Amino acid sequence: MKLHAIQTGCVRIKPAQVEGRGRGLRRRLSVMTDRDWTRWLPTYAWIIDHPEGVIVVDTGQGVHLLESSRSLHPYHRWQVAFRLEREEEIGPQLRALGVGRFDIKRVVLTHLHVDHDGGLAHFPNTEILVSPGELRAARGWLGRLRGYLPNRWPTWFDPKPLDLAPEERGPFSASKRLTAAGDVIAVATPGHTPNHISVVVEDQATTYFLAGDSSYDQRRMLAGRIDGVSPDDDVAKATLDAINQFARGRKMVYLPTHDPESAARLASCTYVPLSPR
Ligand SMILES: [Zn+2]
Repeated sequence: MKLHAIQTGCVRIKPAQVEGRGRGLRRRLSVMTDRDWTRWLPTYAWIIDHPEGVIVVDTGQGVHLLESSRSLHPYHRWQVAFRLEREEEIGPQLRALGVGRFDIKRVVLTHLHVDHDGGLAHFPNTEILVSPGELRAARGWLGRLRGYLPNRWPTWFDPKPLDLAPEERGPFSASKRLTAAGDVIAVATPGHTPNHISVVVEDQATTYFLAGDSSYDQRRMLAGRIDGVSPDDDVAKATLDAINQFARGRKMVYLPTHDPESAARLASCTYVPLSPR
């Protein structure tokens, strides 16, 4: 088994989104009033080159996001900016890696935010798995109000429901095997969105944790600092604690979508440090 990081361009957001300020509604409003910007952060998608077939986790950004500054939605217009070239979309990068469309077994989405589903158009004939709750939240005009872009989904997009079983996996309350071997597992990591999932990859002695936006980087996961957009403070904090606890029992490489260190940690197989609690 081999994992690859695919960088699909960069994104810039508000520091108050990366790390929430205050609690509850005040925390979420502070994203809107923050006048600063982060530096450009990478947006990764992940390729699991598995003996049972390639699994793609998230599809990254698409060039349509470059129009977001003209959006009528205040978040897209004012709080986020994207940078990418067409060749940085996931499709061309998979071809460059020598991964053909028939090699891909399935695509799994951690959630449906625009920088995770932006490359869907490259997978017209592939099974795509999405949490049913996430799909409900993202659909229709209410989804658009919440900042999703269902109008940008390919017309054929009809994902297969990724129903997690109420089967505990370490500290995670629900999980689902994604391979017959049981070495790739979706786990419930509610917080950033209520139905957000992460993907655990067990490869011999090493565990890889494809965290999506569970946290924006490893440091904030370890510190238990939730982001500015999670709907529920306590749920988001409990997930960060669960990931932290999970990491302490094993040799784990933690790979959030936007952590500037993710690709380097994957390349050097750098484990989560044991943090005092
Ligand atoms: Zn997100």
